[in-house]
Amino acid sequence: MPDRKNDINMPLSESRKISMERFGLSSESKDYNLYRILNLTCQFLGAKAASFSIPVRGGSAILVFAGGEIQEPATASAGCISTLANREITVISGSLPADEWAKRCPTLSNIALSAYIGVPIFNPESVIQGVMSVFYEGEFTPLTQDQTLALNDFGRLIEDSLVMRSLSIRDPLTQMFNRRYLEEQANTEWRRAFRLQVPLSFAMIDVDHFKLFNDTAGHQAGDEVLISLANVISKACQRAGDSACRFGGEEFAVILPMTDAADAEALMAKIAQEFAALSISHPGFSDKNVTFSCGITTKAHAEDMDSADVKSCFLEADSALYKAKEIGRNKIVHYEKLLSLRLNKVRKIVWHSLRLIKIATG
Ligand code: GH3
Ligand code: MG
Ligand code: MG
Repeated sequence: MPDRKNDINMPLSESRKISMERFGLSSESKDYNLYRILNLTCQFLGAKAASFSIPVRGGSAILVFAGGEIQEPATASAGCISTLANREITVISGSLPADEWAKRCPTLSNIALSAYIGVPIFNPESVIQGVMSVFYEGEFTPLTQDQTLALNDFGRLIEDSLVMRSLSIRDPLTQMFNRRYLEEQANTEWRRAFRLQVPLSFAMIDVDHFKLFNDTAGHQAGDEVLISLANVISKACQRAGDSACRFGGEEFAVILPMTDAADAEALMAKIAQEFAALSISHPGFSDKNVTFSCGITTKAHAEDMDSADVKSCFLEADSALYKAKEIGRNKIVHYEKLLSLRLNKVRKIVWHSLRLIKIATG
């Protein structure tokens, strides 16, 4: 079984991690806005295909592609890398031999390319995020001034679309993903876990006595606590595929692909330890720091997954969280243990009932 600690076994690539963290884009949730912009670019400029790719270690990886089907390239696209280095529109054209084109654009080695145009994509802080690539087949006539302006506009539309996407999937206070995004992501990971038959864990985290904290220290100090906890959770959930979000109010949710019950519990304990190390004193108590309670559930087998869905997993994690509150807060409870606790309770009731019957009947 793949191990949380062994990244080599993870079929999740670095590009997936970057695309999810930075843009909230996963390979299974297509961004139709970006796709449409790329399609329009092809139509307006008479190009064969267009893509949006991001820099990864040793090359680039395509996140969105318009103009046919492609496989994620294993090697770097030279056109994309030149654009990233130049930080301006970069044109490669001319009668290059086919193998040279294949080297420069390995993604499209099945097309007889005649030209490549790369448009750098920046974020609002002018940090380069990726490249919009436009690919030509057959005869290529250099772009007119109007076409160059249009190409530039299509690039700006991609930038705006990425900003809008980021605003729609993130919580403004903590900058974590929001619940809407997490639920989308949970469905994707659920399908992946089912397909690959690997475990998937869900965790719910809720700050203890937070109303009292706000009532005593004020709402702004409360906000600071939420930001601190969000940072600790996000730092701990750094593996490709891990997603953490602010679920609402003082509640956070985490999805951990390829993570069994023991590893999920260990990770949550690490988060609790790191949060405790911040020593944020709770003004409502003379001797307590702020803590949180946590509920976890894990689906590790096909049978588990057959009888459940994402919604029921969140409910299970939530009832384990409720139990953690009930048994004193500042606790981590796994749903499996909750079931055995319930079973023990039923056993006790049955045992007492049998004893009473025995006494009554002499
Ligand atoms: P428990 O230990 O049972 O979880 O108790 P609690 O007081 O944490 O839970 P309760 O649901 O009673 O209160 C949650 C509080 O969280 C109430 C609300 O003021 C606070 N809260 C929710 N969202 C925010 C926020 O964005 N900022 C701040 N500062 N407080 C928030
Ligand atoms: Mg709550
Ligand atoms: Mg609470």
